[in-house]
Amino acid sequence: MYDLVMSRRPTPIGSPDGPGAVDIEHEISEIAGALNLINSRLVKVAERALERGEWIGHGIHSPAQWLAWKAGMSPQHAKQIVQIAEQRASFPLVIDAFDRGELTVDQVHVVVTRAPAWADDRVLHFTKNASVVQLRRAIRAGRFEGDPDQPDPEPRREDRERLSTGNTDQGRWRINGELDIERGSIVDNALSEARDSLFEQGHTDATWADALVEIAQRSLDAVAAESRRERFKTWVHLSADTGDATLTAGWRIPMAVRDRVLCDGQIQPVWERDGVPFSVGRSQRIVPDRTRRIVEHRDRGCRVPGCTADRFVEIHHIIHWLNDGPTDTWNLICLCPKHHRMHHQGRLGITGNADQKCDLTFTDWQGRAIDPAGQPILPTGPPPQPVVPYQHPCGERMDLNWVGLGWAHDNALKHRRQQARQRSAADWMP
Ligand SMILES: [Zn+2]
Ligand SMILES: [Zn+2]
Repeated sequence: MYDLVMSRRPTPIGSPDGPGAVDIEHEISEIAGALNLINSRLVKVAERALERGEWIGHGIHSPAQWLAWKAGMSPQHAKQIVQIAEQRASFPLVIDAFDRGELTVDQVHVVVTRAPAWADDRVLHFTKNASVVQLRRAIRAGRFEGDPDQPDPEPRREDRERLSTGNTDQGRWRINGELDIERGSIVDNALSEARDSLFEQGHTDATWADALVEIAQRSLDAVAAESRRERFKTWVHLSADTGDATLTAGWRIPMAVRDRVLCDGQIQPVWERDGVPFSVGRSQRIVPDRTRRIVEHRDRGCRVPGCTADRFVEIHHIIHWLNDGPTDTWNLICLCPKHHRMHHQGRLGITGNADQKCDLTFTDWQGRAIDPAGQPILPTGPPPQPVVPYQHPCGERMDLNWVGLGWAHDNALKHRRQQARQRSAADWMP
């Protein structure tokens, strides 16, 4: 079996060609097989956690964040494991090979995120032999022909461009639209640029939504005239009597959003008499710049255990501002936007004195204290080994012109054969 592996790949130039090299390569294959089994076990555990919702309620905003924290892995790797876990049931053959240690987690990830589930058996053999980069190139979206019996995923609509925005019943903002391809690609490029620039600034988990907000923010910041900038500021109107908050257009905003805005925003008092505003006070930041700098310098990033965000933090009032919580450093902590949102949605409890070391207590939505990062349990025996040793990809150059995998759905093929038959029958008609 091992000779076969060696014969599939020419010996690299300059590598020692003695028995030592063979030993090392054999050892790498052994480790790769063991890693595959361990990763497949991790995916199974993640699947169980997803099914039972066990990741929820630990001060965590996504299953990937939970896994990254608990297993001490990078957010990207954790996301990969979660995505495979979500697709486990849809790709039984590929997952079977993964569970036997024959495929790596990266190979499986490409398949489950890029190929349709019906192609499970068709991609299996190719996956075993292709490197991860080759797989990515070969299994691009659009290389698979769809199932003609399924409704077209993108039915053609009228050619008119349209764009609409508004608020939903759940107090959220929505955007919906369709543009011509070349104008749309301008928007696409702007989004990619904004997301990339956020990434470069250290915001490594920036989403497309973050990119859209970034573009909008930049556009508003670029407005030169002060008066015009003021006009297009987002104002939340807070009623001192009822505590209700509304946007200028009259949309009511949820309490969680209101409380969050009041932690770290800018306020301008408006005095009313008999419900009619008659005077406007000076606008000021709830957290003055000097206090903000002290808190940011003290906390150096989000204070929630296990969170690594250290940019774009928001200042939070431990005793809420609306409940007369003072804007003093002991009552202020830095939180990343995600954890700040979670707190005000009631999914993360925070108590204590922020100026005292180790005095803060973070609790999940059930009030259970959140521990500091988990510790790996060291293995007591050797790792499990697959029955068949892991075989690495061929490593040969792939010519996409020669990758003929027949990635068409059975129904599409049937449909084509039927049409061909009808055509040839028509040819015989007198
Ligand atoms: Zn807050
Ligand atoms: Zn955080």
